[in-house]
Amino acid sequence: MKLLDKEFEKYISELEIAERVSELAEEISENYANDEVLILSVLNGAFIFTADLIRNLQCDYQLVFVFANSYDGMESSGEVKTCYTFGRKLLQGKRVLILEDIIDTGNTLKYLLSEIHQQKPQGIEIASLLLKPDAYKLDKKIRFVGFNIPNDFVVGYGMDYNESGRNLKDIYILKHQK
Ligand code: 5GP
Ligand code: MG
Repeated sequence: MKLLDKEFEKYISELEIAERVSELAEEISENYANDEVLILSVLNGAFIFTADLIRNLQCDYQLVFVFANSYDGMESSGEVKTCYTFGRKLLQGKRVLILEDIIDTGNTLKYLLSEIHQQKPQGIEIASLLLKPDAYKLDKKIRFVGFNIPNDFVVGYGMDYNESGRNLKDIYILKHQK
């Protein structure tokens, strides 16, 4: 499958994603069974994961969004920019669950965690559909992980390559040139 100038191959099917998302929703619902959770979805990438996950949740939740951006093409630029779509004081005293599409180096997460900490939430946990364990550099454990993947570039299910491919139903991985 060609996207812009790069070849990708199918990596995780729509069905596998749906099954794993529903399992994650079950784990998350159990974890927050007795308390409301404030879900902080990280845009743009996490929008489809968020929509599917919350429709499988069985716990009380509140949903808010933050835009975060550090990627330029296929490389992490290192510099993170965030834009909150709500008053950050809302995070105070809450059990916050950050929802990410994919965690690579953890750079974006590190930045978000430091901003959220300033608001003194009751706790912060993280759920990410995908994690690149070999690239991840933080001590903070990712409590809910959909799939561990290698250090390769993926697209689809909300994740883009230069704003293309977010609409793909399956997740694709960059094909290595032979
Ligand atoms: P990190 O800051 O952890 O290095 O990267 C996190 C963000 O970079 C993710 O939320 C995602 O937006 C983007 N990203 C990281 N790896 C990939 C990838 O393989 N594919 C796509 N499309 N985005 C990625
Ligand atoms: Mg993201």
